[in-house]
Amino acid sequence: MYRRYSDGMIEVITGPMFSGKSEELIKRIRILSYAEIPTLVIKPSIDNRFSNTDIISRNGNSIKSYSVSTTKEIKELFYQKKYKALVVDEVQFFDMSLIEFLDKLANQGIRIIVSGLDQDYLRRPFPIVAHLMAIADNIEKLKAVCLICKRAASCSFRTSKSDNTIEIGDTDIYEARCRECHVKDSSTK
Ligand SMILES: [Zn+2]
Repeated sequence: MYRRYSDGMIEVITGPMFSGKSEELIKRIRILSYAEIPTLVIKPSIDNRFSNTDIISRNGNSIKSYSVSTTKEIKELFYQKKYKALVVDEVQFFDMSLIEFLDKLANQGIRIIVSGLDQDYLRRPFPIVAHLMAIADNIEKLKAVCLICKRAASCSFRTSKSDNTIEIGDTDIYEARCRECHVKDSSTK
């Protein structure tokens, strides 16, 4: 149907918490590594739930990465070597200036793969992820399993009482929920 894509493109892996975004990202990083494509892997330094230097997947496989907090630091790292691909995990933690840089690189033939939450715990879109989905060539929207009814889940539900949009946590304060189970419990709070 299509002729092959050019090398420069933006791929977005998104979905709620516990939907396997990191596993999917690691699978793609491994493919880039088999293909001997020099790849820079970035994750935000705010996200140190499991490790400071690796993207750790829940099944235990890990890939080396750099922890940074700003777009400027990503730029500096990227131009240190002749990278042909840039991977950013938990992209919702970066500021909007990253979008312009990723778009420019894709236009120059660099393969961009990002992973991140599409919505916060109140189902509000993360603007950077919403924007990247709009300009992406390819989007993979993963689903988790609703902890309440066991159907497919596309929302993250927070069980703690904090009002901060970003609160780092795992199964201690978050659950995957389907739309119905999310809305039901959000409205009774
Ligand atoms: Zn449900």
